[in-house]
Amino acid sequence: LYCVPCTIDPNLGDEGICIIYVPYPWLGLSRGKNENKTGVRADANCATFFDNVRVPKEWGIGPGGMAATLFHAQLLGPKNAAFAVGNLVGAFETVLEYTGDRIAHDKPIRQHAQAALILGRMASAFAMGRYYYLTAAHIFDHPEIYGLPWEGYNPVIMNVAKSYVPGLCQSAIDEAIPLMGSFGYTRDYHLEKYWRDGKITQIWIGGEHLNTFNVARGFYDLEL
Ligand SMILES: Cc1cc2nc3c(=O)[nH]c(=O)nc-3n(C[C@H](O)[C@H](O)[C@H](O)COP(=O)(O)OP(=O)(O)OC[C@H]3O[C@@H](n4cnc5c(N)ncnc54)[C@H](O)[C@@H]3O)c2cc1C
Repeated sequence: LYCVPCTIDPNLGDEGICIIYVPYPWLGLSRGKNENKTGVRADANCATFFDNVRVPKEWGIGPGGMAATLFHAQLLGPKNAAFAVGNLVGAFETVLEYTGDRIAHDKPIRQHAQAALILGRMASAFAMGRYYYLTAAHIFDHPEIYGLPWEGYNPVIMNVAKSYVPGLCQSAIDEAIPLMGSFGYTRDYHLEKYWRDGKITQIWIGGEHLNTFNVARGFYDLEL
């Protein structure tokens, strides 16, 4: 089943947005090959083609109503940060265990200062990221207190959850890989899988760059 956000006229902005459900298979709907991705490989993604597709009116939410609200809510939720934080926690547990077991220069790797710094930075990133996305989720869930997610300062908060938190988590995993030496890079210990899976959090739902532009827009009239 495809959930298709679209517009009846790009010039109408929010007033033109519709959300339409299209089942698969369906006349005029076709899909390309599954993409051969770096990470999140259990999730199938492909190009989708619509060729004069028609569905009953009641399968869609038409323009000028709830469609724009639902569209913005989907784009602005803090779930991307939650994904990135969970992925980092998995990576941290892997590195913590490995560096506790492996001895280098007469003591476990994690008892060396440079390892403790990297482990501490990983923990700082997920502790901060977790606090951040839970706060953003609370704001998202309570528009009666804080306003709608796309109103006032809220887009800054939501876009930081979408862009900055995932970037921080991904950098922390990246920095930890050498701590496991070549086993950080091979498939036996899964650290490389967390690294591959985490990368998508900087790419999907608009991508890190566009989301960061939205943060900047909260502070000045960005002409992009
Ligand atoms: C695993 C996976 C799952 C996905 N799931 C979904 C899904 O369920 N639904 C869905 O709709 N999409 C989905 N996508 C698509 C995803 O949302 C897009 O790939 C993502 O938003 C980036 O868009 P793009 O690939 O078109 O990159 P582009 O828009 O081409 O962006 C590439 C780069 O170009 C630059 N750029 C782009 N636009 C501008 C601009 N206006 N100004 C300045 N610089 C700009 C930025 O640097 C940006 O990072 C998925 C993608 C993947 C990989």
